[in-house]
Amino acid sequence: MSAEDTKSINWHQFDLPDVVEKLETSDQGLSSQEAQLRLEHYGPNLLIEKERKSLGMMFLDQFKDFMILVLIAAAVIAGVIGEPADTITIAVIVLLNAVLGFVQEYRAEKAMAALKKMAAPSTTVIRDGQIESITAEQLVPGDLVVLEAGNVVPADLRLTEAVQLQVDEAALTGESLPVEKQTESLKKEDLALGDRKNMSYKGTLVTFGRGRGLVVGTGMQTELGQIAVLLQDQEEGRTPLQKRLSLFSQKLAYAVLAICAIVFLAGLMRGEPPLLMLLTAISLAVAAIPEALPAVITISLALGARKLVKQHALIRKLPAVETLGSVTYICSDKTGTLTLNRMTVEQVYVAGQVCEIDNLASFHSAPTSEGTSVEKNPSDKLLIALALCNDAQLDGSDEIIGDPTEIALFELAQQKGFTRERLDEKYPRLAEIPFDSERKLMTTFHPWENGQVISFTKGAAEKIIERSEQSLASEGQSEINHSEVLEVSEQIAGNGLRTLGLGLRIWDALPETLTSELVESNLVLIGIVGMLDPPRPEAEESVAQCRSAGIHPVMITGDHPLTAEVIARRVGILRGQGESVMTGQELGQLSLDEFENKVEKIRVYARVAPKQKLKIIKALQDKGHFVAMTGDGVNDAPALKRADIGVAMGITGTDVSKEASHMLLLDDNFATIVKTVKEGRRIFDNIRKFIKYTMTSNLGEIWTIFLAPLLGLPIPLLPIHILWINLVTDGVPGLALAAEPGERNIMSRPPRDPQESIFARGLGTHIIWVGLLMGAISIMTQAWFIDAKQTHWQTMVFTVLCLSQMGHVLAIRSEEESFFAQGALSNMPLLGAVLLTFILQMLTIYVPFLNPIFKTMPLSAGELAITLALSTLVFLAVEIEKIIKRSRKNN
Ligand code: ADP
Ligand code: MG
Repeated sequence: MSAEDTKSINWHQFDLPDVVEKLETSDQGLSSQEAQLRLEHYGPNLLIEKERKSLGMMFLDQFKDFMILVLIAAAVIAGVIGEPADTITIAVIVLLNAVLGFVQEYRAEKAMAALKKMAAPSTTVIRDGQIESITAEQLVPGDLVVLEAGNVVPADLRLTEAVQLQVDEAALTGESLPVEKQTESLKKEDLALGDRKNMSYKGTLVTFGRGRGLVVGTGMQTELGQIAVLLQDQEEGRTPLQKRLSLFSQKLAYAVLAICAIVFLAGLMRGEPPLLMLLTAISLAVAAIPEALPAVITISLALGARKLVKQHALIRKLPAVETLGSVTYICSDKTGTLTLNRMTVEQVYVAGQVCEIDNLASFHSAPTSEGTSVEKNPSDKLLIALALCNDAQLDGSDEIIGDPTEIALFELAQQKGFTRERLDEKYPRLAEIPFDSERKLMTTFHPWENGQVISFTKGAAEKIIERSEQSLASEGQSEINHSEVLEVSEQIAGNGLRTLGLGLRIWDALPETLTSELVESNLVLIGIVGMLDPPRPEAEESVAQCRSAGIHPVMITGDHPLTAEVIARRVGILRGQGESVMTGQELGQLSLDEFENKVEKIRVYARVAPKQKLKIIKALQDKGHFVAMTGDGVNDAPALKRADIGVAMGITGTDVSKEASHMLLLDDNFATIVKTVKEGRRIFDNIRKFIKYTMTSNLGEIWTIFLAPLLGLPIPLLPIHILWINLVTDGVPGLALAAEPGERNIMSRPPRDPQESIFARGLGTHIIWVGLLMGAISIMTQAWFIDAKQTHWQTMVFTVLCLSQMGHVLAIRSEEESFFAQGALSNMPLLGAVLLTFILQMLTIYVPFLNPIFKTMPLSAGELAITLALSTLVFLAVEIEKIIKRSRKNN
């Protein structure tokens, strides 16, 4: 069947057996062989993205800058009228500039593409009768897909199973309320997409329940694929810094153009050749306008993002790299992020007694293999409940897959002989109300003795206790003593254990409506289990780092306050005075204003519902904080979007939370967040250094050309010199600054204010005074040697200006630390770039055939010595600036 055919069928009208037949599949899905064949036939399940820029276009784009075009035009005119050699040189330099820009853009693009690929969604299918995880891209028509809450539907599906399945189809239909799904066929032919309740479409979100469906359309053959507008993947947002810089660059451009006009007119009045003046003025404009800045920032961020992957963080929104350094609050989940998420049941409370696991066996007689009689004893019932009210599953190789909490329970039951295989046969699941983290409960129904039905409910211990009327005793059951049981559960939680309660209820028949109020009440308490989930070993160290870096670590969990508190103390989140714990209930009772007065003191939020995370973020943001927030569930998506940095879990996170996030933790580890903050600070520092370097250099060039004539000297440099300096200094050494390692104090200084100006903290002043100094040294050189034979003075000025910038770049590697303390070798790319520039500069002076091209003269040994000495002045001056900074700090 061709791709077109699958598309034109009204799948919702068919009964399931017909669907299976038409798709030539089975209710066990496809074989992997068949899937492979179909993949070749139908192609990958991908939406065709907006066409990538071709390499040629990317190269041509480098010339679209207005000033470059003017320069090329002027060079051509100069060539026609005057010396063609000049034209060629200028053309070569412009070309080199373009190549450099192209290489940078290409690298950035590559880095971004690689990141995107890593973020590719995966999906669960049944192939060869086995559950298997594959990338969504490999799906083919006929595949049987497993859906659960939190999934983004990976292809168009005809549903074959829907257990309270609810899907948010806003992306396709605009309807924001989730749609309840079903599997029965629908008779009407032309139903709107939103009414095809037995279908589920690519790109929509599963918000509740679970289900299965057969793939009927992939890639461009899906409904989503038909909506062309959606395919334009969103324009990668520009970062706050980029926005501000491009505004600034525009203003700066006008100023530079004005200066260039003055240089041009002043030259004309002095009787210089008009064409030479025109070229000089335009070259200066090209050299001095920092139009490349926003692009350089993108490149730094993209390369930074690539580096972050090695530290297990995947950046989804590039601006996040820039803003990471401003984070003042990290609000983190507990389970799995601060803890290992490797749970083992440690304590069990059953039939009025707390016992350790090893003793549990003594409570019950080993299960009979016949399993004819219903297990009578409470601990047996507990183990049955643990095994049955559980979504963990055995995969093909007998490994348990699922949520770590449930795996632990499953394992315990299995150890004690209550295997799923055996129990499933006897007590198949009839119905269920799935777990969700708002309710913190889940319930399953199974057949029981005498044709009755039993429901097992498990969830937050105090909720189960509250909903119980009776409790199981060693013989029969008795009235529950709520406060006594609550105390026991608090005791278990106080040991730092995650507590879960289990209850049962007997029904004469399966209830018709399955609502939580009706079903999850009037329970018989079976018992309580306490699970150990140890803190991650590196968490304590990371929390300490946060504190020294002026970042407040906060724990947000659905767990019991006592459990949360014990763990928070262990990792150092909860320490001294005034740091406190708040429960979701307390949080719910406070108005936003009241809460804002307290929010900065709270270190642990326990028993919160995901929705409440939004309130926490709002309060913190209103207080002027910059918040990173983790999340993994469907209901976390709004909070992740609202956070300044939304952090999703790469391993346990749902698709929905990942899509809403700015960043993924590939290892789900709190320590990784702290590492990325550190890396973000480093990247931002280096961007600042780059700005410092280029702007100072440009200013030095402007002063040199602008001031000399005003002081009665000839224009110091020719266009070719200006362009050369711009090429060799801006390009490679500037980029090598991105390789600068983090400053020593990077995690012991407060976060950067996100509102702060680019030129804050002395950057503006530095640019102005060092720029002036560079200009002054160049003009001094000129004034001093202007009487030397021929144009040796010009070669000297040319070299001094170029090498001063090399000295500058070495000196600004650190804000405060001296170059010598840092060590010359700690940034090899930069050292290499500086040496390369030095060698190239020497070549322009001493290689005879380059002299006419660069209009240079070979310098005598004495002249060279003086030139080199003058070139170190800027370096020395900036080192002195840093000495002053350091001594100020120590006082
Ligand atoms: P967190 O991830 O912060 O630990 P969760 O939302 O996963 O919080 O869990 C909150 C509470 O919900 C847990 O403390 C537990 O009582 C209950 N719970 C968690 N998982 C399950 C489950 N699979 N079935 C029943 N209850 C659960
Ligand atoms: Mg959880």
